[in-house]
Amino acid sequence: MKKYICICNKNFNTITSLTGHRPRCKIYLQYKKSILTKKFLEDNLIAKNYTANHISLLLEEQGIHFTAGSIINEAKKYGIKTKTISESKLNKLTKEKYENTCLEKYGIKNTFQCETTKNTLREKYGEEINNVSQLTFVVKKIKEKTIEWYSDPENMKKAKERVNTPEAKKNKIEAMNRPEVRKNNSEKQKKHYNSLSEVEKNNHILKRFKSSAKPINKSETIVLNLLNQIFPKEWKYTGDLSLMINGKNPDFVNKNNNKIIELYGDYWHRNDNPQDRIDIFKPFGYDTLVIRECELKDINKVIKKIIKFNNKENKLK
Ligand SMILES: [Zn+2]
Repeated sequence: MKKYICICNKNFNTITSLTGHRPRCKIYLQYKKSILTKKFLEDNLIAKNYTANHISLLLEEQGIHFTAGSIINEAKKYGIKTKTISESKLNKLTKEKYENTCLEKYGIKNTFQCETTKNTLREKYGEEINNVSQLTFVVKKIKEKTIEWYSDPENMKKAKERVNTPEAKKNKIEAMNRPEVRKNNSEKQKKHYNSLSEVEKNNHILKRFKSSAKPINKSETIVLNLLNQIFPKEWKYTGDLSLMINGKNPDFVNKNNNKIIELYGDYWHRNDNPQDRIDIFKPFGYDTLVIRECELKDINKVIKKIIKFNNKENKLK
């Protein structure tokens, strides 16, 4: 059986009994005090800006074993600030050390990618995971704890104060703008959106945009007036979200011949391919014409285009 030996030479069968003994062991406490001095902690934590974990690893290389937790506790006694877990995670040395240990032991940099670990977890929890926090019961527990914490008005107040500091706001914006975060968020949204039914898709879009629905704009008014003059009572402005087709809100609709006219603003639609919009309405029997805002400069050309489009037979109908 593996023995755990204290610096005072006493043996213990488990690590728990050893750690239980340490706070009462005069020799150990003296030893700790002699190494984790105020000066040592200030030098490493403040001057060198190391994390507690980093220091723990550096000491380990010299055969001195102190956990990051005990270093943090000592630092607290002297009023020295230590890094948070998320700050420590970014530490290069910590990451390297973790990866090297995993490489030595399992021949892989991240143990959660290791087949043995995966199999063990699969057997134990019946789930395919690559991170413990993905486990259903862990997720459930975290949720419960979070709800419990936030249900205390005092905690809610604290949380609100925390997110309202200028620094927190700045950090949030910075985090949101990180390319990997943006990519991840947009992928998540796309995945969620694609999993919805057609009706849910329409409701989702409506909900998101109804609050931001703007009154008809200048260019749209020009087109609407044109349509009303050329084809009285045939075309309707639906860009106010009064009609949704396949999750999109068409600008103008002629219900008599199932035709749609979309007006593409030069700025918002500058990178859009009109064919995408045409294909979205096609399965629902709608023929679509896309007009770009800049085309309105030559109004006669637009009129010709609209007449030709409106009078053309709709084979999709
Ligand atoms: Zn001891």
